[in-house]
Parts: sequence; structure tokens; C-alpha cells
Amino acid sequence: MAEPTDAARTVLLTVDDDPGVSRAVARDLRRRYGASYRVVRAESGPSALEALRELKLRGDSVAVLLADYRMPVMNGIEFLERAMDVYPGARRVLLTAYADTGAAIDAINVVDLDHYLLKPWEPPEEKLYPVVDDLLAAWRAGDHRPVPFMKVVGHRWSARSSEVREFLARNQVPYRWYSVEDTEGRRLLAAAGQDGLRLPLVITPDGGVLVEPEAPELAARVGLATTPTADFYDLVVIGGGPAGLGSAVYGASEGLRTVLLERSATGGQAGQSSRIENYLGFPDGVSGAQLTERARRQATRFGAEILTAREVTGLEVNGAARIVRFADGSAIGAHSVILATGVQYRRLTAEGCAGLTGCGVFYGSALTEAPSCQGHDVFIVGGANSAGQAA
Ligand SMILES: Cc1cc2nc3c(=O)[nH]c(=O)nc-3n(C[C@H](O)[C@H](O)[C@H](O)COP(=O)(O)OP(=O)(O)OC[C@H]3O[C@@H](n4cnc5c(N)ncnc54)[C@H](O)[C@@H]3O)c2cc1C
Repeated sequence: MAEPTDAARTVLLTVDDDPGVSRAVARDLRRRYGASYRVVRAESGPSALEALRELKLRGDSVAVLLADYRMPVMNGIEFLERAMDVYPGARRVLLTAYADTGAAIDAINVVDLDHYLLKPWEPPEEKLYPVVDDLLAAWRAGDHRPVPFMKVVGHRWSARSSEVREFLARNQVPYRWYSVEDTEGRRLLAAAGQDGLRLPLVITPDGGVLVEPEAPELAARVGLATTPTADFYDLVVIGGGPAGLGSAVYGASEGLRTVLLERSATGGQAGQSSRIENYLGFPDGVSGAQLTERARRQATRFGAEILTAREVTGLEVNGAARIVRFADGSAIGAHSVILATGVQYRRLTAEGCAGLTGCGVFYGSALTEAPSCQGHDVFIVGGANSAGQAA
């Protein structure tokens, strides 16, 4: 028996309305496959479908489905047919009594059945395991690797979808993108119980669903700190580009209680660069993402707090203290504030351009968009360094 791609995330699912039979199938499957696969048991078609939807959202793989034929509410063939919408690659087995073999044979055409198994299947070494071994071998021959990452489902030409992808990419959160126009995107949408009117959809590795999430909600879900741990600091740094990250490293390394506030993603403009050749200490060049990751690590190692998705909207002087205000009205105080807010791109004022921003028109080299531009004509406006990198 060969190993599955990812033991903990590959499932064999069995469904039977008779709890005794359901337990017996699960027990026999666990005995032989339990060390390599997860065996999930359900006692009705609807509850088995619900389990499949949850597995789908979590990005788990389902290798084999074993369904009893005679079940109330939803029989085994109906279940397998609906299960194909969620996991088309899973191998399908119908468990039948001898009297129902006619129905089982019909099911070969309806649900593209891989096998029907007559009850009882004793001894399993002879009747059950050889069948399941073959089905697992066939299943493994396909590419069914689980996706343990964030999944983003949306429209290719949607500004909101682009923003979410850009936010995840710039914060170095691995994710996989699914277009709603593709089958797998529609499957994920259905598994999440969504009609696709509100997009993008973000599905977290534990199966949680976020609909049209804003940056702070996303940041919190991917484990980026968004809330200060204190009311008052020695040093507040506003902006998380190279200047801000450098300030946080030096402030914290001098023993100052330091917090860095970044509205979008640390790295700033430099984070979007595919290769920086002139940064001190990197004679062979460094990508913006690597530089950012190292700088973040260095700052946190010295004890600086780094908050993401926190935009500063106000700055006041109150006696010896500087008060830094956030968009939600909350505030923190500090002895000193460093403004490292960098620059903002000039926007192209050409007619129609504003409406297409994020859905065909992108500022900066938009590394996230590059793969989907393959084979298309791309026009670059501007002619300096960033334009060169984009090209
Ligand atoms: C694609 C590209 C490639 C580049 N390549 C090179 C190169 O090879 N070599 C080179 O020398 N330079 C390069 N540059 C330029 C270089 O990246 C910038 O000079 C550098 O990033 C400036 O750093 P900074 O920290 O001052 O500002 P920025 O990088 O602009 O960072 C400012 C940060 O402050 C945040 N911010 C702004 N306002 C607020 C607020 N109110 N609240 C919270 N946060 C806020 C922003 O979101 C941003 O993250 C490149 C730039 C780009 C875009």
C-alpha cells in the first residue's frame, strides 16, 4: 500500500444510515488505512454532504467515498451524484445488498461508479481491501494534492479581488487564486453556501469563510498583529517601508519601547520590487519580499511591535506626549513619532482609467498580476526604474 500525499488531510468517507453497519465499515477501513488516511463516517446522505463541504473548504482531499444504497431521504446513488459536484476526483463505491445489484449496475452509468460492494464484505482482507487498494492506487495516479493555504475566489476583473490578492501577497501570506468562471471556483463557492453575488471570498486553511473582507479582518485572520499591546510607547514609527522598518530596528535595538504602524503591508514600495541591486549589504541583489521578511524578523527580534492594516489618520501634541490617532477613533501616545510614510503613486488622469484601476490597470509592477498576464499584451505607462522592473 503506497503512501498518500498528505496523510492527515486525505479522507476516506463512508455513509450508511444503519449505525451498526456504518461503524463496522469505518472500523475495517481504519484497521488497514487508519495510519495513512483519515476515515470519516456519516449516517445520512445530507450529513455526509455537509462533511464533504467542510472538508472542501479546509482544502482536504477525499480519495474514496463508500455509500450504502438504501438510505432514507437521499439514497446512495443520489449522494454519490451530489458528492461528485464537490469532489469529482474521489473514487465511488456503492454498498448494496444482493437484492439491489440491479440498481448498482444502473449506477455505473449515472454516477460513473467505480465499484459496487456486496454486503456483507467479510472477510475484508478478501472482499474490501483489494478493492479499496486498487481505488487508492488509481486516485493517487491523479494530482489531488490538498491545498493547505488560503483560497481566494473572485472575478479576475474586479478591483476588490485584486486588492485582497495584493494584500495577501504583499504580506507574504501564501494563497491560491480561483476564478468564479472556473469549475473549481464554482465548487468552492457552492461548498461555502455562497451565490457569488458578494466577492471575493476568502477561505482560511481551517475552513472559515470571509466574504468581501476588509484589510483589518484579513490581517487578523492570517495572524498579523493589528492591535497595540500598550497605550504609550517611547517611539511610534508610522509607515512600514524600508525607512520605517529601519527606524523600528534602531529604536528597538536601543531599548526604546517601539511600535511600527503600517496601513497596508510592510515593505512599502520596496516590497513590490522583484530585485533590488543597490541595497547596502546585498551585493548580489535581494527581492523586496526577502528584504521585508528579514527586516520584520530583525525588528521583532529586538522587541518592536509591528501592526499591519492600521492607518494613522491624525497626529496631535498633548504636552510632552504625541498622540497618534487611528481611523476607528482609537489612539496611542508616545514620546517620539517618526513619519516614514514614503510616497504615493501619481494616478494616471486618462479618461476611464480610474474605473479600471485594479481590474486591468495596475500601479507598480503588481507581481500578483504577472502570471495572469501571460500571453496577453501589456502596456506600461512610464519609463523609469519601476517601469523597467514591470517590463
Ligand atoms: C517597483 C519598485 C521597484 C523599486 N526598485 C528600487 C531599487 O531597485 N533600488 C532603489 O534604490 N529603490 C527602488 N525603488 C524605490 C524604493 O522602493 C523606495 O525609495 C523606498 O521604498 C522608499 O522607502 P520608504 O520607507 O521611505 O517609503 P515607502 O516604501 O513608500 O513606504 C511607506 C509606507 O508607509 C505606509 N503609510 C503611508 N501612510 C500611512 C499612514 N497614514 N498610516 C500607516 N501607514 C502609512 C505605506 O503604506 C507604505 O508602506 C523601487 C520602487 C518600486 C515601486
